[in-house]
Amino acid sequence: MPQRTDIFDLGRLGLSSGEGRRLDLHTGLGPFHYGGQAYAVEPELIPVRLDVSRTTASGYALRLRFGVALSGPCMRCLEPANPSFEVDAREVHQPTGGEELVSPYINADEELDLAGWTRDALALELPAQLTCREDCLGLCGQCGANLNEDPEHTHEAAPDARWAKLSELKFD
Ligand SMILES: [Zn+2]
Ligand SMILES: [Zn+2]
Repeated sequence: MPQRTDIFDLGRLGLSSGEGRRLDLHTGLGPFHYGGQAYAVEPELIPVRLDVSRTTASGYALRLRFGVALSGPCMRCLEPANPSFEVDAREVHQPTGGEELVSPYINADEELDLAGWTRDALALELPAQLTCREDCLGLCGQCGANLNEDPEHTHEAAPDARWAKLSELKFD
């Protein structure tokens, strides 16, 4: 089992201005909640690639890359969905100097909240709906049938007697 890193101490790298380092680490997110549903994150221990560059004496430019799959209900048809995502996120941390840019993921002790950043970067990558497939047809609004299994599914336009009466009314 690779070691899990949730907090990474950037200062320990001892980089000086202009130096960089590529690190292959593993972090974990636990269950991920989206649209009111819980999704399992696969793999449980996520391999992440972290590129760290020391820009100035106190600044960093970071890049985080990873791929995960989420597992849970399709938001349209409720069948199991297993969409996967490739995430490529960047972060600049420049706490001193002319333009102050403080990353919310790096604290005053130069510790990087790797798990927190991974979680947020994934959330930003997600579409509005997690679906079993991109063109999931969802459920029939009238009877709840799964339209992926029955794309030709239609209902007879059964005019309700009350509505028929209404349509006879004239508003003038
Ligand atoms: Zn679906
Ligand atoms: Zn139907």
